[in-house]
Amino acid sequence: MTYQPSSERYQNMEYRRCGNSGIKLPAFSLGLWHNFGNVNNFENSRELIKTAFDNGITHFDLANNYGPPPGSAEENFGKILKQDFKCHRDEMIISSKAGYTMWDGPYGDWGSKKYLASSLDQSLKRMKLDYVDIFYHHRPDPETPLEETMAALDLIVRQGKALYVGISNYNAEQTLQAVKLLKHLGTPCLIHQPKYSMFVREPENGLLDVLGKQGVGCIPFSPLAQGLLSDKYLNGIPKDSRVATSGQFLKESHITPEILEKISLLNNISRQRGQKLAHMALSWLLRDERVTSVLIGSSKPEQIIDSIEALKNTSFTNEELQTINTILK
Ligand code: NDP
Repeated sequence: MTYQPSSERYQNMEYRRCGNSGIKLPAFSLGLWHNFGNVNNFENSRELIKTAFDNGITHFDLANNYGPPPGSAEENFGKILKQDFKCHRDEMIISSKAGYTMWDGPYGDWGSKKYLASSLDQSLKRMKLDYVDIFYHHRPDPETPLEETMAALDLIVRQGKALYVGISNYNAEQTLQAVKLLKHLGTPCLIHQPKYSMFVREPENGLLDVLGKQGVGCIPFSPLAQGLLSDKYLNGIPKDSRVATSGQFLKESHITPEILEKISLLNNISRQRGQKLAHMALSWLLRDERVTSVLIGSSKPEQIIDSIEALKNTSFTNEELQTINTILK
């Protein structure tokens, strides 16, 4: 049956300007790192994209290596686009990235112009797209001159293969250098994708200040610390959780008694706020105006609808923030 998106899809989502650019992103974006590979159920992946779009999520984040196997998330997303979203491409912001190992030999990894240009060509083929909206360098390369990597991003935009560019996992200092180089080339850096959550607060040590001052957007990834920042692990490991089903990046050994104690204390505060812990973790990120969009992952369509509930309360009292900081110390 032909998919008809909800006519109310833009009514309940908030759209935030991405840095100083002309683009607005939804407060929540959907990432395809997990749950979209060939190992996953295709119909569930399809429902995830439809549910997101029906609820105002216009931004979908991919990378060359998402799967498993690497590349299969882009292939499956391409199939979903063809089946269900042919008429809606202009309502979508689709991103991809290159920076991690993708193919054998010296040109399938890191940050050379050769790798980034070839990888994006492959991504476009897999998704059957003419262009992506945002193309990221996925991680800093200690060997390739930053000038070359940024020149590759600039080239890709000039070739019309991406509309905007971004960087991911760069620290504050690397970010400032990259932003300056891109500005000089005439292709401004649209956005930075850092790992940021209540459990990972590194971006507060300078990165968010650089982004705010330079007018670059910010889209934190793994905002629930892969699901840890919810009540799901408080009473053991559910069979359908990431730890049980994937276990590669989030392992049972990560769920230490110390982490469980923190989760339990945070859970008490979220209840006092009338929120679930997952909602509080997401709204805690959105309270900062420098955060453009929060990049969630979901294994089930219901989780997308649930996570969006966080938008109902994104303000925190100073007392709440202080108590949260004390717990997280
Ligand atoms: P999250 O921290 O949001 O974790 C997502 C997982 O949490 C879900 O798969 C689900 O796991 C669980 N979950 C989601 N919603 C809820 C809810 N409402 N209540 C309870 N549990 C919930 O994000 P990810 O780690 O998945 O990362 C998100 C995206 O960020 C990726 O898809 C990718 O696009 C990007 N990313 C970028 C990286 C980079 O280097 N640039 C690195 C990593 C991610 P479960 O299976 O347990 O149900």
